[in-house]
Amino acid sequence: MGFSEVKDCQGLLYRIAKFRLHRPVSVQGVMEHALQHRERVGVQDFVLLEDYTSEAAFIDNLRKRFNENIIYTYIGNVLISVNPYKNLPIYTEDKAKLYYNKAFFEAPPHVFAIADNAYRSLMFEHREQCILISGESGSGKTEASKKVLEYIAARTNHIRNVETVKDKLLQSNPLLEAFGNAKTHRNDNSSRFGKYMDIQFNYEGAPEGGHILNYLLEKSRVVSQMTGERNFHIFYQLLAGADQELIKHLKLQGRPEAYKYTTDTHSTFIQKTNDADQFRIVQEAMKVIEIGETEQREMFEIVASVLHLGNVKFVQNDKGYAEILSHDANTGNVADLLKVNVLKLREVLTSRTIDARGDVVNTPLDLEQSQYARDALAKAIYDKHFSWLVSRLNASLAPKERDPRASVIGILDIYGFEIFPKNSFEQFCINFCNEKLQQLFIQLTLKQEQEEYLREGIAWEPVEYFNNIVICDLIEARHKGIISILDDECLRPGDATDASFLEKLSQHLDGHAHYKSHRKVDSKTQKLMGRDEFCLVHYAGEVTYNVNTFLEKNNDLLFRDIQVLMAASGNNIVSNCFKDTNLTSKKRPETAITQFKNSLNDLIKILSSKEPSYIRCIKPNDFKTPMQFDDKLVSHQVKYLGLMENLRVRRAGFAYRRTYEAFLERYKCLSAETWPNYRGPAREGVQRLVAALNYEREEYRMGNTKIFIRFPKTLFETEDAFQI
Ligand code: ATP
Ligand code: MG
Repeated sequence: MGFSEVKDCQGLLYRIAKFRLHRPVSVQGVMEHALQHRERVGVQDFVLLEDYTSEAAFIDNLRKRFNENIIYTYIGNVLISVNPYKNLPIYTEDKAKLYYNKAFFEAPPHVFAIADNAYRSLMFEHREQCILISGESGSGKTEASKKVLEYIAARTNHIRNVETVKDKLLQSNPLLEAFGNAKTHRNDNSSRFGKYMDIQFNYEGAPEGGHILNYLLEKSRVVSQMTGERNFHIFYQLLAGADQELIKHLKLQGRPEAYKYTTDTHSTFIQKTNDADQFRIVQEAMKVIEIGETEQREMFEIVASVLHLGNVKFVQNDKGYAEILSHDANTGNVADLLKVNVLKLREVLTSRTIDARGDVVNTPLDLEQSQYARDALAKAIYDKHFSWLVSRLNASLAPKERDPRASVIGILDIYGFEIFPKNSFEQFCINFCNEKLQQLFIQLTLKQEQEEYLREGIAWEPVEYFNNIVICDLIEARHKGIISILDDECLRPGDATDASFLEKLSQHLDGHAHYKSHRKVDSKTQKLMGRDEFCLVHYAGEVTYNVNTFLEKNNDLLFRDIQVLMAASGNNIVSNCFKDTNLTSKKRPETAITQFKNSLNDLIKILSSKEPSYIRCIKPNDFKTPMQFDDKLVSHQVKYLGLMENLRVRRAGFAYRRTYEAFLERYKCLSAETWPNYRGPAREGVQRLVAALNYEREEYRMGNTKIFIRFPKTLFETEDAFQI
């Protein structure tokens, strides 16, 4: 804002200052203060940006605020959050109270405002809510979801008899994080699974239960991690924190370096966190969730058995097959802990039975196959145990009685768009998920807008935007989509390979606007794409995928003999986990990607029936450190999160809307028509006010209960000045 423009609104500023401070002030003083203030802290809603199409201006605004420790900014009702990497005094009980029953704009942007808004819409307007949190690894999604939960817990403090439910909801986090989070290069506490949690409220507005859905645990981490990264926290916590009796029972040695799956000594240490302390927190959480001693012990037996399993070594015998040395103690430990027959265990790790049209043949495995079988078992046990834990939490969080009037707020904390130097099957799944969520964003935002216009009796004005449904179809269309082509290759008997899958992709999809095959690219891009790669033009940008291991990961085979043995385990959790797999059916189990697609579509159905709020999280630097803002890194995320498009769409419609009462209350000081003594109906007061402020007819609409304003420069600037 230039000085001359400030001068234009000096009268307004003067009146605001007088109104707020209840005393005459110098006009010049207020003006200067307003200018300096905006110069320093930027605008609190991006719709207020002068040049809203400029990414540079967008980032500049984020940076200014970040440097002032202001991490939150709105785009309309979407909250942008920049990870401060330090504890800010903005989450105290007193701060929380600032947001009770407040509309956006009545208090500075905050995750609490999103939570309060959702809570009020649920309670007073009876619309079910969901809060969708996205952003890349380390951007602060999980922290934001915890703040929402904590806010709701505090907000409902005045209602009786809900303490245990709230405790359980809050304590589900450390437990899930112990088993589902790990230290990665990007984040010391990275969630390696997607999570959707419903909080259920009773008619009084108190939380009375919850339900969690989990998505795609990164189980490959159980058997290997990148240098400098760790396995899931629980392994280290157990080794560091278990008492002697438990350590002895689990036959552990107490050192992560002693186990192949946790062997990377460079990475075992996490700054500011103590694994032993964390273990006690996990045990406390188990108590709150009412996981009994026996169950706890069985859970730890599973964790320990995975460690022992990793140490099972194979040698090659004279016939070229794999064997386990007769004095190997690891298989004995696993068998003891999982209560299975040790000879059987050794057998299923080194051979498999094949049922060839009624003839059951036992074939020995070679070294590589045995190692594959061992790792597949470790991954399967850990993965299934994690899902068991989620269902165990759900049993504990289920409301005591079914209340037909109950309603929910859902919170989605799920992996953001990923573009790495090398992208594989996992990134393909994650990016597919993000396409689906973007599609939902488009549908829900438009639906929400249209419904509001209808409610308010205002004519709908369509807005141009990029609809990514074409990419969703490219991936999941029934016959010619990538998933269906991948599944066909996985199910095809004979010589299907990753290469033949890539060949099929190119055959079917060459020419699609969002698919680039390595064969068809021009000479310039060819250098960037290998023979085993394909590229998708996602809504957030181009991603090149390497097809290596796509088939293996999608098939996700666990030999049948291993499953049968585990189903017979004396450890109740293990036998329950493996009993579910259909051992008698000849039908092939669903592939990994199809299971994921189905659970994703179920999630989309759940979310579609709710009113959404969005929190978009941004990571300011790659060093997990405070006060560093890397423009380039932030710029990437602004692109992947679609924020500029979001802002453009917001500005194309009516960027601002308010109930007549709230509008009048806030701005009545701007005109002598309404200030200080207007007593009439709110709608009429607003009409007088906008007339006095000389709004153009095109600039606003009067709805049934709200005024809609396209982009009232003066008003927004005034609004901004309220921040002072
Ligand atoms: P991932 O996708 O890897 O799970 P994430 O988006 O969930 O990442 P978080 O685990 O929420 O990221 O945040 C990473 C770290 O950043 C936290 O452990 C914490 O140290 C810090 N952090 C995040 N948000 C905040 C905040 N609001 N205040 C202070 N520190 C924060
Ligand atoms: Mg997380």
